[in-house]
Amino acid sequence: MSIPFIDLKAQFNTLEHEIREGIDRVLSHGKFVMGPEVAELEQALSDFAGVKYALTCSSGTDALLMPLMAWEIGAGDAVFTTPFTFIATAEVVSLLGATPVFVDIDERTFNIDPVELEKTVLRIRKEGNYQPKAVIPVDLFGLPADHQAIEDIARKHDLKVLDDAAQAFGAKYNGRRLGSFGNACSTSFFPAKPLGCYGDGGAVLTNDDKLADSIKSIRVHGQGSNKYDNVRIGINGRLDTIQAAILLPKLRVLAEELTKRQIVADEYSRSLTGIVEVPRVPENCTSAWAQYSILCDQRDSLRKFLNESGVPTAVYYEKPLHLQSAFKALGYRPGDLGVSESVSERVLSLPMHAYMNPDDQSKVTGAVRKHYESRS
Ligand SMILES: *Cc1c(COP(=O)(O)O)cnc(C)c1O
Repeated sequence: MSIPFIDLKAQFNTLEHEIREGIDRVLSHGKFVMGPEVAELEQALSDFAGVKYALTCSSGTDALLMPLMAWEIGAGDAVFTTPFTFIATAEVVSLLGATPVFVDIDERTFNIDPVELEKTVLRIRKEGNYQPKAVIPVDLFGLPADHQAIEDIARKHDLKVLDDAAQAFGAKYNGRRLGSFGNACSTSFFPAKPLGCYGDGGAVLTNDDKLADSIKSIRVHGQGSNKYDNVRIGINGRLDTIQAAILLPKLRVLAEELTKRQIVADEYSRSLTGIVEVPRVPENCTSAWAQYSILCDQRDSLRKFLNESGVPTAVYYEKPLHLQSAFKALGYRPGDLGVSESVSERVLSLPMHAYMNPDDQSKVTGAVRKHYESRS
């Protein structure tokens, strides 16, 4: 019997009553689009994150797309981001006709390296082919990027900052939850994220009144004073009321679940230190632990051994974005972003969720230890 990689069922078992009640309520009132649960969720999300606006939307991808649209980013513009992330982070830049410029990561945090960021911004400015407009740091695996350093660089070079917190809603930087770092913060409610619904969903968080107004318009086809007054090109970017109803009880237990994830992560780190490289969390951060990702030698043979031992694993990410065929027109070659490339060969994510029991966890750590013992 294999243990689960992420156990959505265990969470459902504890919240089943509230979730079914919420869905039933929506079926009864019938306001399936922008119903009362959407407004209720937006209030609860903004309270939780300590930010003025939380605007829900149809996915984490649209949550990235809409602020860039609001800032009118397009052809001729450069948007800096990490290649060590999910495709959506950079895809939205290309969708708008702008150019993603990849910046290598810090091996210890898996997040964009601020020193490399500044160097790259200076290089792009000097080359003069693209206008630097924005940076999208990603809080990978739930760990906040180095927001203070990124903000300093962004201010100096007049860049907008869009924080991709798709994996990190609820994580803290300098004691504050993500949501208010940068000009806007995007998150995803894809089922496997730390706060997930039962389908697609996302949200944009911001303190910026003007940006919030633009996003409210963009997510309903660029509406003006009403739905049939269209003042800009927009999208159909709304969150379903049913998904909002599902997220409400899940948000109520999120803080508690984050504590449980932290306990699981602490136990992994305690028992795997010295055997593999365990994730490092800077002192001024907490992680939402979307993934617990190690760096290891013989990654593929460890992975095979774990799989045979009933321990599922995942590799995020096998191929950094600068080497994806989708971006081949950008002209990157192997070796261009060495840290991301080397990490993609050594990274491995272990089962992680808030409801993991100690027996399952010792099955994981025991199997990792056994693999390296049998080889030394
Ligand atoms: C999941 C994810 C997204 C996209 O979210 P969707 O809700 O699947 O559209 C964007 N960025 C990162 C880093 C992600 O992990």
